[in-house]
Amino acid sequence: MKSVKNIAVVAHDHCKKELLDFVDCNFEALVRHNLLATGTTGGLVEDLISRRAAEAGLEHKPVNRMKSGPLGGDQQLGASIAEGRIDVLIFFWDPMQPQPHDVDVKALLRLAVLYNIPTASNRSSAEFLISSPYFQKEYEIRPEDFSYYTGRAV
Ligand code: PGA
Repeated sequence: MKSVKNIAVVAHDHCKKELLDFVDCNFEALVRHNLLATGTTGGLVEDLISRRAAEAGLEHKPVNRMKSGPLGGDQQLGASIAEGRIDVLIFFWDPMQPQPHDVDVKALLRLAVLYNIPTASNRSSAEFLISSPYFQKEYEIRPEDFSYYTGRAV
């Protein structure tokens, strides 16, 4: 993956405040990357990033917003992972609340694991991820070998 990455950010409702604080605290590290997000998260992150960028006199690329998670946004992000269009996933999912779209959340997390996408699911894993030297430089994700599956005799 290139040094400028496509980073997907998602937070369930009770985790949005934490994600916004993470984005605020790590604005300089995040602003140079391309951000994608589910709808509501993306609107909040866009407001924050555009305000911080205006204050700092920086250009920023608008957050690429999908549909809201329960309306298919997680599935859109999952499809983007399968198509190789997401490099990093930061998903603060709520361990205390059932979600109407639990199956979509599970599918997104499954694809992130399948395609070996660096993933953070809470504040500390996100801090570890963003402070990795690979966050700002090129990194080669070792391609998974699916030939055992695609080449199977059915
Ligand atoms: P939201 O979706 O950003 O539209 O709230 C997040 C989710 O529930 O997956």
